Amino acid sequence: MVVAAGSGTRLGAAQPKAFVSLAGRPLLQHAVRRVLDSGVVGCVVAVVPTDLVQPADELLGPDVIVVPGGADRSASVRCGLAALPAAVDTVLVHDAARCLAPPDLVRRIVDALDQHPAVVPGLPLADTVKQVDDGGAVVRTPDRARLRLVQTPQGFARDLLERAHRSAAGSDDAAAASLATDDAGLVELLGERVQVVPGDPRALKVTTPDDLAHAGWLLGLGA
Ligand code: C5P
Repeated sequence: MVVAAGSGTRLGAAQPKAFVSLAGRPLLQHAVRRVLDSGVVGCVVAVVPTDLVQPADELLGPDVIVVPGGADRSASVRCGLAALPAAVDTVLVHDAARCLAPPDLVRRIVDALDQHPAVVPGLPLADTVKQVDDGGAVVRTPDRARLRLVQTPQGFARDLLERAHRSAAGSDDAAAASLATDDAGLVELLGERVQVVPGDPRALKVTTPDDLAHAGWLLGLGA
């Protein structure tokens, strides 16, 4: 599932982020092509803004199921889950904004799903992280060696992901709300194990104009 129904206001573009062009193609098309190129995905569902269902359908062709998304990322993931064919028992959730996530990263997640019901790609950090209080004073300095920057695609047994989303949608828990951008976080709230496998710098998330320029540079290098 490639979620692409966000507005992407931080990018400052006229159209939603997933439809912004990178080297002549929308970010969504770059993302979907790399997922399909992995050769290990049987079916792709793209979740897009309601008014862009038809153009996305024309752009992505008959191999991709296109459905309208929801008010936040979690709601869009639930729209995608509802559109999955019944036979699907394993799901990857991927952000269109991570448009250059390479096919070998997709294969790495699918391979790890043989051993684990929930798998996320993660990168070690170069910087030290500080937890601060409301006044900006440092509360804690976590051990950097134990931290990972988590990316997408994230992979799940379908029933586990559905259970995590049902549970989060039915709760008014602040923790669930703050995890609305991270499916693995919802699985963690169920108390289930989530396995981290090595991520890929090319799976950077395009959020700002600088990120778009960075992605263009990576594309020029063959990403
Ligand atoms: O806004 P942000 O970059 O965090 O969004 C991450 C991904 O979730 C993007 O690919 C965006 O299109 C998607 N999204 C969505 N539906 C929303 C909000 C975000 O599909 N309502």
